[in-house]
Amino acid sequence: MTGKAQTANGADPMIEVVGLKKSFGALHVLKDINLSVPRGHVVAMIGPSGSGKSTLLRSLNLLSLPDAGCITIGGHRMDFSMGRVSMRDRDLAAFRAGTGMVFQNFNLFPHMSVIDNVMIGPVSVLKQDKATARAQATELLAKVGLAARADARPEQLSGGQKQRVAIARALAMKPEVMLFDEATSALDPALVGEVLAVIRQLAEQGMTMILVTHEMAFARDVADTVIFMQDGFVVETGDARQVINEPREAATRDFLSHFH
Ligand code: ADP
Ligand code: MG
Repeated sequence: MTGKAQTANGADPMIEVVGLKKSFGALHVLKDINLSVPRGHVVAMIGPSGSGKSTLLRSLNLLSLPDAGCITIGGHRMDFSMGRVSMRDRDLAAFRAGTGMVFQNFNLFPHMSVIDNVMIGPVSVLKQDKATARAQATELLAKVGLAARADARPEQLSGGQKQRVAIARALAMKPEVMLFDEATSALDPALVGEVLAVIRQLAEQGMTMILVTHEMAFARDVADTVIFMQDGFVVETGDARQVINEPREAATRDFLSHFH
């Protein structure tokens, strides 16, 4: 397993996936995934329900352990080719900390204030002192437009606000990569824009991101690359405008026709 892909300008990719496979029992969910994401690029991942998008994102964050293949993120490499991970817990934690994940249903801690949700990771995992963590959390809440809600409880927030807290919480761990799994799918249509605006701002600031999304216009406008997945394979990958506007594969065309 050589993981040697280079980007066009010769820089090492931020994310590289080689030969990734994952089954749940007899169900082959990821069949042979290869992808390479340059530093600072935004990838939108699209495809039908059940095609393996969440499993792929969860694999990048080791929430789901692949059966085979290799993942490199920011120079940290995980080899699953032995069929299991032989890393120490500390190395696993370090690898996982390289990626921040945002889920469809926010997954905030309901019994904690907004600012405590953002501080808890840095304090408990990164062992930051509370004053430093609080200062950083305050800054991140301002960045997502929620400075005024620091002391609120999640239940007092709208879905869009909760999702922006979830983004601030992920950023607090200083990840090199952000992963968004249908971050706007659970939101009222009126609240989608405020979350997409935060994601767009991260893109403009050079964050490397993979977004699973059904927002095709957003994917076309903000992503550099679009990946179409179906049935555990990457069926098409290319420039975002090309894949959305002029897909090469019949399967991609067919999928996109449901969004027009
Ligand atoms: P997508 O995000 O593209 O909708 P998923 O990665 O969630 O697809 O799921 C792909 C397939 O894997 C689906 O058939 C799903 O039911 C199955 N699957 C996902 N997670 C598990 C699991 N933990 N156990 C068993 N099957 C799973
Ligand atoms: Mg999914």
